[in-house]
Amino acid sequence: MKIAFVTTEAVPFAKTGGLADVSGALPIALQRLGHEVIVLMPAFRSVHMTRQPISETDMVVHANIAGRGLSARISRSTLPQSDVPVYFVDNPELFDRQHLYGDAQGDYQDNPLRFSFFCRICLQVIDRICPDLQILHCNDWQTGLLPAYLATRFDGYQWMQQAKSVLTIHNLAYQGIFPKDTLSLTGLGWEHFHFRALEFYDQVNLLKAGLSFADALTTVSQRYSEEIQAPEQGCGLDGVLRDRAERLFGIPNGIDPQIWDPRTDNEIASTYDAESWKEGKASNRAALREAFDLPHHHRVPLVGMIGRLAEQKGWDLVVQAMRQLFADEPSVQFVVLGTGDPRYQDALKELATRYPDRLGLHLGFSDRLAHRIEAGADIFLMPSRYEPCGLNQLYSLRYGTVPVVQPTGGLADTVTAVDASSIADGSATGFYLPHYNVEGLVAALTEAVQTCNDRPELWDQIVRRGMRQEWSWERSAKQYLRVYEQTISRNEN
Ligand code: ADP
Repeated sequence: MKIAFVTTEAVPFAKTGGLADVSGALPIALQRLGHEVIVLMPAFRSVHMTRQPISETDMVVHANIAGRGLSARISRSTLPQSDVPVYFVDNPELFDRQHLYGDAQGDYQDNPLRFSFFCRICLQVIDRICPDLQILHCNDWQTGLLPAYLATRFDGYQWMQQAKSVLTIHNLAYQGIFPKDTLSLTGLGWEHFHFRALEFYDQVNLLKAGLSFADALTTVSQRYSEEIQAPEQGCGLDGVLRDRAERLFGIPNGIDPQIWDPRTDNEIASTYDAESWKEGKASNRAALREAFDLPHHHRVPLVGMIGRLAEQKGWDLVVQAMRQLFADEPSVQFVVLGTGDPRYQDALKELATRYPDRLGLHLGFSDRLAHRIEAGADIFLMPSRYEPCGLNQLYSLRYGTVPVVQPTGGLADTVTAVDASSIADGSATGFYLPHYNVEGLVAALTEAVQTCNDRPELWDQIVRRGMRQEWSWERSAKQYLRVYEQTISRNEN
């Protein structure tokens, strides 16, 4: 099968979140199963800073966006340790910026122009290098126009006759909503400005364009695919998704064992496996405490957190819970790595200054530190309000770092809570918040800490069970292939 995977992030070239991990691994897994995959993405500034060699091609591609002629050079690389080609759409004015989507002032104003242009250029690049394309796999709102272009045969390329589109929703909350005059940048006519296409409360919604026009939709866990069809988590698009329920599939993400494996990880103090986890953790925990100047306290486990400082991730609860926990005798210590909303940055900074022996904090983005936290912490906390899939709980399972999570979306699908029956059948891998509030968070953490301290045999069982689970990309890739195959055959009939 010939597949073009269109994305705005891919490890190691550009990353703000889980989309980058998916885009760096899924195309390789698809290729290993015998398929031909190319990746297309913008040449953001970070692309030029990676160690992967990038070469120029002779392709220079033009697009007329609302009367303005713009062009892009196309450069090329490969995903690391593979020969999956990555084509970069290079227009320095639009993409050579410090951040991908916006800065401290907010989203870049010209995002509709940037991503309309990116999508338009992708159409032409596909025409040049992959005219026999079968599957156009798009990701999130930035690529939402592509299914609309394909369905409306925009610019009339030959490859559009046979290709089908698949759109993966990595996070429904980010939709690319812009004033209605943005429609002129897309090149699509007003006949598409209605509630079954791009229109959303009298504005243009680029994700909705993709949801309406794609031949198939996927999202990154079964549970999330159900949750987003109801108003509470539907972000205003639950009706559209219910309409398309028959073509909506939940496929969990995998993890890349080349990058995330405690047996081979060269970022961590000591490597370990499910047999040697106690010694491995002890050494990594000591190194992590030392790195953050945290003293050792008897019976005080280390809780790790990594992620975007966004409301979604439950930082408001975390900050309140820390205030409560830090006022008492030490029961837990935290190591937090994150960047994002200044509100949470400030609150965490204040707590770290006031309680330097309780909270180790790094405000920034650091892959290396992420590995060291996964290896050194005893418990990993993810109290997300919603979580399409979540990767850190999967990394935590693999690293023997017991996850404490809110049972939502992918967290509910991938973590089995400790209870009488999961203990009896040996399936327990973590803990759930009993209620989504500060008390619930403290209760779940307390249960985890007590289990860690007082029931070492059960803890050992939980750790080993998590470490032995397989979250391979091969399994996910096979599910994507089934969706591709169904989509191709369904539309041919
Ligand atoms: P989301 O995509 O909503 O941000 P995921 O859990 O799916 O959440 O994926 C987040 C990815 O980004 C993980 O690989 C995580 O380790 C990484 N990450 C997030 N914030 C940071 C940070 N500050 N430093 C290093 N890695 C981070």
